[in-house]
Amino acid sequence: MPPLVLFNSLSRQPEAFRPIDPADVRVYTCGPTVYNDQHVGNMRAFLFADTLIRTLRARAGAEGWGQVRHVINITDVGHLTSDADAGDDKMERAAAAAGRSIWDVAAHYTAGFKRDVARLGIVEPTVWAVATDHIGEMIDFAQAIAPAHCYRLPGGLYFDVGTVPDYGRLARAGSEDGGESRIDPVAGKRHLADFAIWRSSAADEHRQMEWDSPWGRGAPGWHLECSVMSRRYLGSPFDIHTGGIDHREIHHPNEIAQNQARCDCADPGATFWLHNNFLVERQGTGGSGKMSKSSGAFTTLQSLVDRGIHPLGYRMMCLQAHYRSELEFSWAGLAAALTRLRRLTHAVEGLRARAEGKGAADAGAYREQLDAAMADDLNTPRALTVLEAMLADKTIAPGARLAALADYDAVLGLDLMTLTREALRVRPADAGMDERAIAERLAERREARAATDFARSDAIRESLHAAGVEVMDGDPLGWDWRLDAVARSDGDENAPPGRSA
Ligand code: AMP
Ligand code: ZN
Repeated sequence: MPPLVLFNSLSRQPEAFRPIDPADVRVYTCGPTVYNDQHVGNMRAFLFADTLIRTLRARAGAEGWGQVRHVINITDVGHLTSDADAGDDKMERAAAAAGRSIWDVAAHYTAGFKRDVARLGIVEPTVWAVATDHIGEMIDFAQAIAPAHCYRLPGGLYFDVGTVPDYGRLARAGSEDGGESRIDPVAGKRHLADFAIWRSSAADEHRQMEWDSPWGRGAPGWHLECSVMSRRYLGSPFDIHTGGIDHREIHHPNEIAQNQARCDCADPGATFWLHNNFLVERQGTGGSGKMSKSSGAFTTLQSLVDRGIHPLGYRMMCLQAHYRSELEFSWAGLAAALTRLRRLTHAVEGLRARAEGKGAADAGAYREQLDAAMADDLNTPRALTVLEAMLADKTIAPGARLAALADYDAVLGLDLMTLTREALRVRPADAGMDERAIAERLAERREARAATDFARSDAIRESLHAAGVEVMDGDPLGWDWRLDAVARSDGDENAPPGRSA
């Protein structure tokens, strides 16, 4: 098996991955801030982490590794509207706007996030680490580093980035100013990049979430959470830390600084820092913009499902792009990804029907090509191409192709071993008919055609169309109808699909 090479943001180089302790491979993923729904851009970050975890687990046997442990945190306190130290706490603000308690808001959006995780076939992490469950440990951590690395300001306890070696190396490797242009000044800070470890509540301020600390009542800083929870569950140092590319500029450099302060050494706390690029939206006049929660309108997985897109269609769309490339979200792109998934499903069903068939070759070469693609910094676009070639290779017995498919499912998570055409046919929220009614209308239509009553047959077809059902006579993929709204989108290919007039 070729060595697993991963692009390490610390060095801006591809590096061969070797775990610190082969018996226990450890990965930490920065999780969602649960003040709102996750959008499909956020879910790209978790699909990427899932691909990494699946790849590590698939290699574990051949590499002689033991368990692969994965921690994802849930941020339910501390994340301000700016990634640095300005603005309101996102959770406090969302709760006030909704007239609900923060705990309600957090529970609601955590549940929604976990539902999306399941629908996308993302393997649950070994540990979900919830920030508010670890406040005591955060205070302990802050106390341990405060004497040598922190100072007090009216706003709380601040971290002095001048006290650790090479602060901001991770960010500087990527941009001229290491992200500092995004940091808001706070009066009294020693360096622009200094950040709050603990934010003390003002005398007249009442926050829903606050705790007593040596620095007064208040709440932990967001960066502190991840240092504390990764150390708590994975030890220090651990192997791989993942997150979206925005975290490379502020959040992760700050985690690294805290980790260095805590161990009193130069070690950044994780050997590999991996970052997925953004899902972007094409904006009016060209140019692209990161899909973001704060921009108000964004696309959720549920809104895809409501339009008849199976969640695995979105997974396919993400796999078609390398995780370090920007991916543009478009309905046309999503429809194409879904069609590709349907074709794969169709091919697999064909193999199942011919499972007893013979073939001279075995699938070993295709297994090697899968391993090679994934070893090349998780090259999922190539893995998909290899998968299609493998399924179509008639020199290999159908049964052997199906057996090899399990390896692809394990890594790509497309669930092709069990996915059916019926399951992919998601009923849009606005579809006017249920599946039994469709079947009845289609039976009537077949009778009309058998009786060469084409006027009646066409009328039935039209009435189905009006209800959002496309009848697909002679469809090479073997679908006699489909319900997805994308099939109905016409005109502007980037407009969200809707019922055509
Ligand atoms: P948040 O809930 O804002 O803390 O974000 C959760 C994860 O989603 C983080 O790893 C972010 O870096 C990542 N993320 C946010 N927006 C995008 C996007 N448009 N594309 C890809 N990843 C994103
Ligand atoms: Zn984090």
